[in-house]
Amino acid sequence: MNQWINEQMNIMKFGGTSVEDANAIHRLIKIVRRELPKQIIVVGSACSGVTNELIRCAHTVKDGSESDAMNIVESLKKRHINISDELLKENRLAEVNRKIEEYFDEIKNIVRGVNLLGELTSRTLDLITSYGERLSSLIIHSALEVSGIRSSLVNARKVMITDSYFGSAKPLVDKIEERAKKYFLPVLENNQVVITQGFIGATEQGITTTIGRGGSDYSAALFGSVLNAEIIQIWTDVDGMMSADPRIVHEARLIRKLSFNEASELAYFGAKILHPNTILPAVQKNIPVKILNSRRPEVEGTLILKTGDSDDKTVVKSIASKKGIIVINIASSRMFLAHGFLAKLFSIFADHEKSVDVVSTSEVSVSLTIDNDKDLEKIKIDLDQIGEIRIAKSKGIVCIVGEGLKKTPGIAARAFTALAKLNINIEMISEGASDINLTLVVNESDVDKAVRVLHDEFFGNV
Ligand code: ADP
Ligand code: ASP
Ligand code: MG
Repeated sequence: MNQWINEQMNIMKFGGTSVEDANAIHRLIKIVRRELPKQIIVVGSACSGVTNELIRCAHTVKDGSESDAMNIVESLKKRHINISDELLKENRLAEVNRKIEEYFDEIKNIVRGVNLLGELTSRTLDLITSYGERLSSLIIHSALEVSGIRSSLVNARKVMITDSYFGSAKPLVDKIEERAKKYFLPVLENNQVVITQGFIGATEQGITTTIGRGGSDYSAALFGSVLNAEIIQIWTDVDGMMSADPRIVHEARLIRKLSFNEASELAYFGAKILHPNTILPAVQKNIPVKILNSRRPEVEGTLILKTGDSDDKTVVKSIASKKGIIVINIASSRMFLAHGFLAKLFSIFADHEKSVDVVSTSEVSVSLTIDNDKDLEKIKIDLDQIGEIRIAKSKGIVCIVGEGLKKTPGIAARAFTALAKLNINIEMISEGASDINLTLVVNESDVDKAVRVLHDEFFGNV
C-alpha cells in the first residue's frame, strides 16, 4: 500500500538509559540537534529504573509499610532534582524544581491513599507509574529549551487514547490519529520540537493508563504511523539488534538489516530491545524503524524494513530468550479429539485476556506457555473443567529466528545436537506458523547456556 509519507518527520524515542542522567540528556540534545530542521517528535521513557522503583513503592505501601514507600519516593525525588540541577540554568531551574516537587507531593498523596485503603488497584498503579515519564519529559523539555532548541511539552495523555484495561491498555488508533493531528502538528508547524511521553495514555474520560512495560517503543511507532512519519528511531544503550542479547553472549554481532517479521518474532520471544507491538503500526504503514545507540550515535544501527535484506544469505539471524515462563499441560483422553476442544481451550485463555506464546499438541494433550502468572488460579479453575492440568513454573523459551529457516533443512537437527551435548533437556518444540522461528522450551536455569551454545553453533566463535 502506497501512502503519503511526511519525509520531513522523524519520531525519536529515547529509552530509559538514554535519559538516565544529565550526561545522557546532553547526548540526547546533540542527537536531536543533528536532525534539525526536520520535524521531530521526541518520545521519552522514564529515567532508567524509575518505573521499577515506582512499582516497588506502590507494592511496599500496599504491603503495609508506608514509611519505606516514602523513602523510595524521597530518593526518586533526589535523583530527579539532581538531574535538573546539573542540566538547567537559574531561570528554568527554579520553575522545573518546583514542578518536580509538586509531582512528588502528588505521588505522596497517592501513597497515603493506598495506605488508608490498604488496596492497590491497577488503575492506581498506572497513575503512580505515569510519573516516571512525566518527570523525565519535563526535564528533557527544559534542557532542550536551555540549549536553544525551541520545543513544546505535549501531554501524551491527551493523544494516546486507550481503553481502560489498566496495566496494558489498548490504544484506540482512530482517536490517536485525531489527537496527534490536533496536538502535535501545530507545534511542528511552528518549527518547534515536540517532547512527549511514551508508555502512558488516558481513557477518553481522561483517566491515566499505561500500555504495558517497555511500551514507549509502541507509543513512538503509533505516533509515527498515524502521522505517516518518514522514520521511527529507537535510541537505546546497544548498537542495534544483535545476534543474541549482548548481556548473555558477549561476542554477539550487530544485525544491519532485519525484516519486520524477523524483528517482531525476536521482540516477541524476548529480545527486550524492542517492545513486541512496536512493529505492527510501522509494518502496516511500511515505515522503517531504526535502532540506534545513544552512546555511539555514529554507529549505523539496525534498520528494520518490510522485506529485510535480500542480499543477506545468513540463515539464522538471532537467538532470543525469555525466562519466567509457565508451561501448562492439559490432558484429556476423553475429549481431546472431540470437535471444538481446542476452540474451548483457547477461549478460556481469551476470556482471561491471556496470550499464549508457544503451543504444541500430542495425541492426548496440549502443552502451552504463558509468560506471567496473572489470573493463573482463575484460569486453572476453568481448565479443570475440560481436562487434567499440570502446571510447571521456572521454564524458559529459546527462539532461533531467521527468514532463511524456511528454506534450510537441518537447522533443528543442529540445534538439538548442540543442546544435547550440554545435556540440556528440550521440553517443548514449536516451529511457529510464520516458518521463521524455531522455538524451544527448556528449564529456566538452562536458558543462558542454551543461548550461548546455539550462538556458537550458528555464528561460530567470532
Ligand atoms: P531501553 O531502555 O532503551 O528501552 P531496553 O533495556 O528495553 O532499552 O532494551 C535494550 C536492551 O535489550 C539491551 O541493553 C540488551 O541487553 C537487551 N537485548 C536483548 N536482546 C537483544 C538483542 N538481540 N540485541 C540487542 N539487545 C538485546
Ligand atoms: N518506563 C516504562 C517501563 O520501564 C516504559 C518504557 O521504558 O518503554 O516499562
Ligand atoms: Mg525498552
